[in-house]
Amino acid sequence: MEDKKILVVEDEKNIAQVLAYNLKKEGYAVDTAGDGEEGLRLALGGEYDLILLDIMLPKLDGFEVCRRIRTRSSVPIIFVTAREEEKDKIFGLETGGDDYVTKPFSIKELLSRIRANIRRGRNEMVVEPEKHNTNAMMIGELVIDCAHYSVSKNNVPIELSKKEYDLLVFLAVHAGQAFSRETLLEEVWGYAGFYGDIRTVDVTISRLRDKLGDDKSHLKYILTKRNVGYYLNNFS
Ligand code: CA
Repeated sequence: MEDKKILVVEDEKNIAQVLAYNLKKEGYAVDTAGDGEEGLRLALGGEYDLILLDIMLPKLDGFEVCRRIRTRSSVPIIFVTAREEEKDKIFGLETGGDDYVTKPFSIKELLSRIRANIRRGRNEMVVEPEKHNTNAMMIGELVIDCAHYSVSKNNVPIELSKKEYDLLVFLAVHAGQAFSRETLLEEVWGYAGFYGDIRTVDVTISRLRDKLGDDKSHLKYILTKRNVGYYLNNFS
């Protein structure tokens, strides 16, 4: 049985109940919060393996809750949203969300995404250091310390979300090799094709480039291979 703990932040009581019921049935421990402030308080105070976050919430909206959680924690966050506009989805990812599902969603799809996000959580290493003979990878001025899940550039720490970190490590392990967005979605997000949205990859790449200080007119680290996808410069 799973003993993972999930926080559901949702103001519509019937939806919160359905979510809690189904998650408990799957063996997850579940807490619920009915507004943004309570959600934020629980998220910052509790040890959660994942947070399901509604966007339209009383007191504090989901984007703001996410932004504030991200100043303190890299817990996986999935937006559960009734909004279908693409810009909302992208904005959700930009505030530091890892994923989103749009209402109405199937419980099966949601559970699959929860499993994928928890599996790729920071508590479980995406890279087993012994396979690479070292705990640290050096890429140009970047140092990726896999033992401590930390990344620094010229000794200055760079704060990454879980997915940004996972993506960087994946690209670093295969530096020089280009991957399609579909492949990255599968390898890094753990999604089989039809659940994922490849725009998720573009947004995360763009966020990662910003954080690594990659200048868009002169990219140094994460490069684009035309008609293929993305790769990390191996500086060879
Ligand atoms: Ca709502």
